[in-house]
Amino acid sequence: MSRKDFFSELRHATPPEERSPRPAPTPSQPSHAVPAAPPREPGPPQRPAERMIAQLRERGIRDERLLAVMRDLPRQLFVAEALASRAYTDSTLPIGEGQTLSQPYTVARMTEALQLKGEEALLEIGTGSGYQTAVLSRLSRWVFTVERLPALSDRARQLLARLRFDNVSYKVGDGSLGWPYDRRFERILVTAAAPDVPQSLLDQLAPGGVLILPQGASGEQNLLRVEKNLKGVVSRKILEKCQFVPLVGAQGWDKGG
Ligand code: SAH
Repeated sequence: MSRKDFFSELRHATPPEERSPRPAPTPSQPSHAVPAAPPREPGPPQRPAERMIAQLRERGIRDERLLAVMRDLPRQLFVAEALASRAYTDSTLPIGEGQTLSQPYTVARMTEALQLKGEEALLEIGTGSGYQTAVLSRLSRWVFTVERLPALSDRARQLLARLRFDNVSYKVGDGSLGWPYDRRFERILVTAAAPDVPQSLLDQLAPGGVLILPQGASGEQNLLRVEKNLKGVVSRKILEKCQFVPLVGAQGWDKGG
């Protein structure tokens, strides 16, 4: 699909739950009658977003602020309309340029591991569709996000501006070298797999900070949680296995999608 097509699809994207016509009012009822609410069926919730949240809970995500943000964020706007019906399923989806939007569980797991309080300056490497950026923007003070591919960065920037995510700064460039200006971040999230933790990112991590990064070659990687204590000593822990596209750059891999 060309970029133009993608944009026009984006403009016309409607949340799937809003597409079905509203049920017509029943004229035979007297105006003062309050129709009895249908008994609430026990069982799976109805809306796709709520189903997604229920699945995230089942898989162990506990952060209620995060779950509320993901429930309310229109995930279908971050993928082409042809994929909208799959937007809330727990799957990885293509976003163009050979890149992918991570499955909701992965977005949630990485975000939860950052332990955001809402006050952080946060650096994200790999803007992609902007979905993860949007989640982070609601849970931190300011998001600085770097994307290597200009077409993806432009599209994410336009969509997030339209949705009024105002606490985000965008850069196009090699995020394996960190933010292009000298500054420190309380949190860093890398959404592409690196051969190892880039030194530039470690240097830009503030004392007391946390960095989450998938580490390894194509195929399967380890999701790492790296902490820098107040004395500057760095420790790392493997959280779980994961699968990401490669981080391509000076402190990443040579080639990628
Ligand atoms: N977080 C994204 C998923 C992104 S996939 C989302 O929610 O949609 C990983 C992204 O990292 C891709 O868009 C890819 O182009 C980007 N990327 C790869 N290497 C990079 C680098 N060195 N600097 C910045 N972005 C990079």
